Amino acid sequence: MSAPRVVIVGGGFGGLYAARALGRAPVELTVVDRANHHVFQPLLYQVATAGLSPSQIAYPIRGVLRRQRNTRVLLAEAVAVDAARRVVTLRDDELPYDWLILAPGARHSYFGHPEWEALAPGLKTLDDALRIRERILLAFERAERERDPERRRALLTFVVVGGGPTGVELAGAIGEIACKVMARDFRTVDTREARTLLVEAGPRLLPAFPAVLAERAERSLERLCVEVRTGAAVTRLEPGAVWLGADRIAAGTVLWAAGVAPSPLARSLGVPLDRAGRVVVGPDLTVPGRPEIFVVGDLAACTDAAGKPLPGLAPVAIQQGEYAARAIVRAVRGRPLPPFHYHDKGTMATIGRNAAVVDLGRLRLSGYLAWLMWCFVHILWLIGFRNRFLVMIEWAWAYVRFERSARLIVRGGDEAMT
Ligand SMILES: Cc1cc2nc3c(=O)[nH]c(=O)nc-3n(C[C@H](O)[C@H](O)[C@H](O)COP(=O)(O)OP(=O)(O)OC[C@H]3O[C@@H](n4cnc5c(N)ncnc54)[C@H](O)[C@@H]3O)c2cc1C
Repeated sequence: MSAPRVVIVGGGFGGLYAARALGRAPVELTVVDRANHHVFQPLLYQVATAGLSPSQIAYPIRGVLRRQRNTRVLLAEAVAVDAARRVVTLRDDELPYDWLILAPGARHSYFGHPEWEALAPGLKTLDDALRIRERILLAFERAERERDPERRRALLTFVVVGGGPTGVELAGAIGEIACKVMARDFRTVDTREARTLLVEAGPRLLPAFPAVLAERAERSLERLCVEVRTGAAVTRLEPGAVWLGADRIAAGTVLWAAGVAPSPLARSLGVPLDRAGRVVVGPDLTVPGRPEIFVVGDLAACTDAAGKPLPGLAPVAIQQGEYAARAIVRAVRGRPLPPFHYHDKGTMATIGRNAAVVDLGRLRLSGYLAWLMWCFVHILWLIGFRNRFLVMIEWAWAYVRFERSARLIVRGGDEAMT
C-alpha cells in the first residue's frame, strides 16, 4: 500500500513546523508555498527600518527541509481547496491529498478600504519590508532637498496605524532612526525634528498586554520621540495625508499595522468562518465534517479551554502545526490524539533598542531587562530554524552595536526621488 499523501499549504510558522514534525513519518509530504523562503515575521520590522538584511530573517524552505527524504517542496500558489474531491487547486495544476494542513496565514485588513493599501502599505512579507524601508529612507533624502519648510515637515512625518506589537515596534524603530541613527548624517534637515505618530483606534496601545505594560511601552515610545494617539481611527487616506476624523495630518509616509484579513483560501472550504473570515476549527483543529483537513496558525479561529480566542502569534501557529502533524501520524496508525491545548509561554514586544515589554503571566517586565530577554528569546528562536550560529553572532553584534549604516542604502535616480 502506498504512503498517505499529506499536503501542507504554507511554509510559515504553522506549515514549516508541521512539515518538520512529519519528517520521519511514513507519509508522502508536499509543502506548497508561493514564496521559496520562510520569513521570520517577528523581525520583519527590523528589515523595514534598516536594522537587519533580508537574508538574516529568511531562509529557503527547501534548505530547512533538505534532510527529509519523504518531503518535496513546490513553489506554487494555492487558489482553492476542493474538499469534496480532496484536491488543492494551484494556479496551473492540481494537488491531490489524503490529509491537508492549511497554513497560509493572513494579511492586513483595511476595514473595507482595499484602495488604502497602496497609500499605507502593511508589513507581512520581505517585499513589503523592502518597500517600506525604501519609503522611509527616501523620505529623509527628499526632505534634505526640499526647500519649502511645510513640505519638508510633511516629508518628515511618519504615521503608523495600529497600536499592536507590530505598530509599536515599527514606530519605535522609526523614532530611533530619526532621533539617533540619522541625526549626524544630514546637513539641511535635523532628523530629530521628524514626527513619528502612532495611531490606535482603541483606548490604549497593546490591547493583548496588561494595561501597566502598555503604559510603560507608551512612555518608552515617548522617549524615542514617538507621539501616541489612542482613541483615534483613520477615517480617510489620500496621497500625502491621513485623516483622523476632522484632523488632517500631512504625512509623507503612512504605514499600516492594523487588522487581520485571513487568506481567501478559507472561503473555498465552504465551512463556517468567524467575523474576521478565519476558519472555525474544532478542538482537534479540523474543519467541521472534514476530519482530514486541519487549519492552523493565523487562518484558524480557535479557542482555549476557557473559550478565549487564541491570538495570532507565532507560538500558537507552531504548536498547532506540530499538533496537526502528530494527529495525522496517530490517525494513520488508528490512534486519535486528545484535543489541542495551547501552552502560553508569554508575549513580548520591543520598543527601540533598549526597551521592551514582556508578559509571562505572573512575571511582567519592562525596560532594559525585558529588552535583553527579548533579544535572547529571538536569537535562540532564529537559531532554531536557521541553524547558522555565525550569522546570528554577526546579527547580534550589529544589533547591539547599533550598526545600521550598512543597510541605509536605497536606490537612487530621478525615478526614486519623484
Ligand atoms: C510584522 C509582524 C510581526 C510579528 N511579530 C510577532 C512577534 O513578535 N511574536 C509573535 O509571536 N508573532 C508575531 N507575529 C505574528 C506571527 O508572525 C504569525 O502569527 C505567524 O506567522 C502565523 O503563522 P502562519 O503559519 O499561520 O502564517 P505565516 O507565518 O504568515 O505563513 C504563511 C505562509 O503561507 C504562504 N502562503 C500564503 N498564501 C498562500 C497561497 N495561497 N499559496 C501558497 N502559499 C501561500 C506564505 O507565503 C507564507 O510563507 C508578527 C507578524 C507580523 C506580520
